[in-house]
Amino acid sequence: MSKLRVPYKIYLDEKEIPTSWYNVRADMKNKPAPLIHPGTLKPLTFEEMRPIFCDELIKQELDDTTAYIPIPEEIYNFYKMYRPSPLTHAVYLEELLDTPAHIFYKFEGNNTSGSHKLNSAIAQAYYAKKQGLKGVTTETGAGQWGTALAMACSFFKLECKVYMVKVSYEQKPFRREVMRTYGAKVTPSPSMDTNIGRKINVEHPGTTGSLGCAISEAVEVATSTEGYRYVLGSVLNQVLLHQSVIGLETKAACEKYDIKPDIIVGCAGGGSNLGGLISPFMGEKLRGEADYRIIAVEPASCPSFTRGKFAYDFCDTGKVCPMAKMYTLGHDFIPSANHAGGLRYHGMSSILSQLYHDGLMEARSVEQTSVFEAAEMFARVEGILPAPESSHAIRVGIDEALKCKETGEEKTIIIGLTGTGYFDMLAYEKYNDGTMTDYIPTDEDLAKGFATIPNVNL
Ligand SMILES: *Cc1c(COP(=O)(O)O)cnc(C)c1O
Repeated sequence: MSKLRVPYKIYLDEKEIPTSWYNVRADMKNKPAPLIHPGTLKPLTFEEMRPIFCDELIKQELDDTTAYIPIPEEIYNFYKMYRPSPLTHAVYLEELLDTPAHIFYKFEGNNTSGSHKLNSAIAQAYYAKKQGLKGVTTETGAGQWGTALAMACSFFKLECKVYMVKVSYEQKPFRREVMRTYGAKVTPSPSMDTNIGRKINVEHPGTTGSLGCAISEAVEVATSTEGYRYVLGSVLNQVLLHQSVIGLETKAACEKYDIKPDIIVGCAGGGSNLGGLISPFMGEKLRGEADYRIIAVEPASCPSFTRGKFAYDFCDTGKVCPMAKMYTLGHDFIPSANHAGGLRYHGMSSILSQLYHDGLMEARSVEQTSVFEAAEMFARVEGILPAPESSHAIRVGIDEALKCKETGEEKTIIIGLTGTGYFDMLAYEKYNDGTMTDYIPTDEDLAKGFATIPNVNL
C-alpha cells in the first residue's frame, strides 16, 4: 500500500432525513410530456386516473410546479427504520484500480427488500390506506419492488396482490417466499386469471413474461376489484419524487463533508433510483448553479436510452395503461431470456427521457459479463455483494475511474448502489462457471419492437 487512505462511511444524523421530497419538474423548463389517453390522445385528467391510482398520488403525478412536497409523519417514521442510508468512500476500490479518482457510493440495500424500492412503496401504501382502500395490485420483475410493497402493505395493513414475471417467479422462489411471508399474494405472469394474461399466453405460447405483461394484469385486476388501486414501482413521476430522498441525503452528506461530485452514475431500468439520486443535483444544474456529468447506465440487451426512440408509447404490453412519452424499445419488446441483470423494462421515466433529450444527461449501455466482472471486483474489496442492476452503475463508475488513471485527473465519482444481490446467485453462478454470455439485439430485432410504437405526433 503506497499511500494510506482512510475509508469513511458518512452517516447523517436521523434528524437529517429529508422532511420534504424534491420535485425536479418544478425546475425543468421543458416539462416531461403528460400521460395521455390512448383513445382521445388528450392528457389524462385527475378524474380519468381515479379508477387506477390513489387520489393523492395522482396529484403528485400531475404536479409539475411544486418544488418541495412535505413527507407525511407516518412515512417519515417508517423511513427512520432504515434511513438515512450511508454514503461510503470506496477507498479499497480506489486502491485496487490505482486511480486518482475519488469514488463514493450511496447504498440503498440496507433494508429487507434489499433495494431503494421501499422509499416509494411505503409512500404509496400510506396514501392508499389513508384513502380507505382495501388493497393494491402491482407487478414485479426481479422481485425487489414486490418485496418492498409487501413490506409496506403489511406495515399499513393493506392487502397486496403481486403479478410476478414468470421467469423470475420460477428462478427466484426465495424472493416469492419473502413476499408471501409479508402477506402478499403472488401470481406468475402471464397468468390464466386475467383476460389479458390469457390473451398473451395464446399469442406468445411458452412466454417467460415481461414487466409489460405483468403491469397489464395488475391494472386489470385493480380496476375490476372493489376497493383496489394499482401501484407502480418505477417510471412514474410520483415514484421519482419519493426516491428524491436518496439524492437529498447524498447532497446533504456531500455538503457536510465538503465532497464536490464531478460525475454521478446510476443504473436505469425505469429510471426511479437514478431520477431520485440526481434530482437535487439536476435542480442545481437546471437553475445554473452548478454543473455535473450525469450518466445513466443500461444493459446492452435492453437499451432504451442508447438505441430507443423518443415517442409516445404504451407503458404495458396489453395496452391497458395510458401512453407516456419516453425513450422506448416498443411495448412489445421482450428482452432476451439470457439477460440476467434486471433492468428489463422497455421504456423509461418521462422525466429522465426529457432531460436526456435536452442534453442534460448522458447514457451508456454495458454488456452483462462486464457488469458481473465489475460486481465481483467491487464485492471482493468493498464487502457488499451488489445487485446485478446496481452493478451496471459500478461498471461505469470503474470505467470512469480508470479514465482518470490515464489522464491523472482527480475526479469525484458518486455511484448509486441500489441494492444487494443475494437473490441473484443463479446469475452469479453462471458468471462464475463461465457460461454467461452477452446478447446484443440486432437492428432487425429492435425494428420489431419499434414497429409496435403507435404513431402519435404531439
Ligand atoms: C428495481 C431496481 C433497479 C431499477 O429500477 P429503477 O426504477 O430504474 O431504479 C435498480 N436496482 C435495484 C436493486 C432494483 O431493485
